[in-house]
Amino acid sequence: MADHPALKVDDLHKSFGAHHVIKGVSMEAQKGDVIAILGASGSGKSTFLRCINLLETPNSGDVYLAGEKMRMKQNRHGETVPEDIRQVERMRSRLAMVFQGFNLWSHMTVLENVLEGPVFVQKTPKAEAREKAQALLAKVGLSDRADYYPAHLSGGQQQRVAIARALAMDPDVMLFDEPTSALDPELVGEVLSVMRDLADEGRTMLVVTHEMGFARDVSSKTVFLHQGEVCEEGAPSELFTNPETEQFRAFLSRMN
Ligand code: ADP
Ligand code: MG
Repeated sequence: MADHPALKVDDLHKSFGAHHVIKGVSMEAQKGDVIAILGASGSGKSTFLRCINLLETPNSGDVYLAGEKMRMKQNRHGETVPEDIRQVERMRSRLAMVFQGFNLWSHMTVLENVLEGPVFVQKTPKAEAREKAQALLAKVGLSDRADYYPAHLSGGQQQRVAIARALAMDPDVMLFDEPTSALDPELVGEVLSVMRDLADEGRTMLVVTHEMGFARDVSSKTVFLHQGEVCEEGAPSELFTNPETEQFRAFLSRMN
């Protein structure tokens, strides 16, 4: 049997009322691909990621994880909704999302934040989960912060905890929505360096980012969204040296 792409999105559309935000976006990530998604504010990057893990329901188009199609149906109001909530939960558990704003539980320590999913969602035995959580904290360079509360960490440290927490669920595909945009400039590098390690390990990642250096050096493919459509896409070496559209050229010059 041929290998399926880790993630495939086919002709996705999403509107909010009369506002057509995603206008037929398709994308495919093979296992180990890192896809950088670029675009101006309001171009639909977050909406696109949110449609992949069904935080938003697309109006039409298909999402496949390892070849399994997310099944949708029309409800009696003619809206598209998931057919089977258990399938949504199962597929969502194979995706992990890292947000701009870290979204850690403030009343839990770093270790408890990382343990929460494995213990309460996946029902992993606590001792085993704890061992794994400690290994993940070591991986993101935070072994010595396990018992701290998020408020006592820098933004860069909090985001690294959020990445450890995402990894604890053993996701097949990781979705990052501007993971460094809320950070002070001097803290951006430590988070990008963890993400670079994940890429080197062969993790499949979709990364919405304004970090052009990361897109250029780490992504296997870069996609530029403009007003809800793929305007340019390809190998970053091609795209950055030879932008074809006026929109992408203008975007790049604003980024520099
Ligand atoms: P980006 O992440 O590229 O900045 P977004 O996906 O957040 O863009 O937003 C794209 C467009 O969709 C914007 O015009 C935004 O106002 C609109 N939008 C996003 N989410 C909603 C929502 N829940 N309800 C209505 N409009 C929304
Ligand atoms: Mg956004």
